[in-house]
Amino acid sequence: MKRFDAAGADLVPGQRVRVRVTQQHSWGVMVEILGHESISASIDGAAIDSPSGAGRAWLGEYPAVGTEVDAVVQEIRRWSPLAWVRLTIRSQDLHSFQWLCDFCGTPTVLSPGGDGVVMDVRSADGPGSHAIATHRECLRSRLHESSSEHARVDSVGRR
Ligand SMILES: [Zn+2]
Repeated sequence: MKRFDAAGADLVPGQRVRVRVTQQHSWGVMVEILGHESISASIDGAAIDSPSGAGRAWLGEYPAVGTEVDAVVQEIRRWSPLAWVRLTIRSQDLHSFQWLCDFCGTPTVLSPGGDGVVMDVRSADGPGSHAIATHRECLRSRLHESSSEHARVDSVGRR
């Protein structure tokens, strides 16, 4: 049996992708991620720039159905079925996507070249996973001195 939490394993928060809008709703838009069409995905109105300068976009300001746009993976929800990807198309997030570090509570940059990484927490008890965002430094500083993982925390994704 395939675990539902295997869905979207090839996506990571901070990753830039191309999406096509498939439906508009009052809360935001449903999209398909090009190359990852099998996983459900959406963009909340709060993750869309409002042309009128408001804090969030509203129905009528959302990109039209059929539109293709660049987006950044914000969160991959795999806590319970269905697996679900939430994305952002805010210009500031496309420039540099930040999320709060679960260790120190301050923002970390998950975009390429940033100071953050994401850990997927999984268990042999059963399917389901969740993600911990952290500065590389916050994670490395919490490893025991006898751990052999320090260098891997520094280098993962960078070679
Ligand atoms: Zn931190």
